[in-house]
Amino acid sequence: MKAHYQTQGFLIVLSGPSGVGKGTVCAALRKEMPELCYSVSATTRQPRAGEIDGVNYFFKTVEEFKEMLEREELIEWAQYVGNYYGTPRRFVEETLASGKDVLLEIDVQGAHQVKQRFPHGIFIFLLPPTLEDLKDRIIKRGTETKTTLAHRLNAAAEEFKQIHEYDYVVINDEVEKACDRIKSIIKAEHCRVDRLVMTE
Ligand code: 5GP
Repeated sequence: MKAHYQTQGFLIVLSGPSGVGKGTVCAALRKEMPELCYSVSATTRQPRAGEIDGVNYFFKTVEEFKEMLEREELIEWAQYVGNYYGTPRRFVEETLASGKDVLLEIDVQGAHQVKQRFPHGIFIFLLPPTLEDLKDRIIKRGTETKTTLAHRLNAAAEEFKQIHEYDYVVINDEVEKACDRIKSIIKAEHCRVDRLVMTE
């Protein structure tokens, strides 16, 4: 009889304030770790230039989003600066069941809900090197009006208060370095004794 060792797949939740560079870090991480399965969220926000339906988000009307909620198709959801965002259940459950890791890039409200349902997930908060960097980065991105910029900065201040709910904090001083730190965290988490599964 031969025993095989393997570790189960788990959820990797990445949060951080608007403008911190979550999207860029996630893209770099997915390139470096193609085995990570990225969960595409549903949102009622309007697509930004270059965003593709089904790739960046599943773009939904408010009605469609509410129908998904009623059908319990989302494992978590939140309202963020006037729009709804949520994580489709089926993809996450099926991917985890197949033994793979799933990467979620979601806000702190969503991360809180995920933690209740998936306590074995890992929760990473991405921080900017300084608070001033946030505002500069959002302005440079050129996607916000004065009002939505102010709302996003307010939301960021609220998000910082929830940092204690996370397991790890990563400073995004350079995308490559931040990506390396997250890779190390994921690799170390795979080596935890409590994630070991033995199969015959
Ligand atoms: P953005 O509009 O800049 O793409 O995203 C705004 C915020 O919503 C970000 O903090 C992003 O991480 C978060 N977000 C994106 N998808 C989801 C989701 O499925 N659930 C939750 N709770 N937040 C999400």
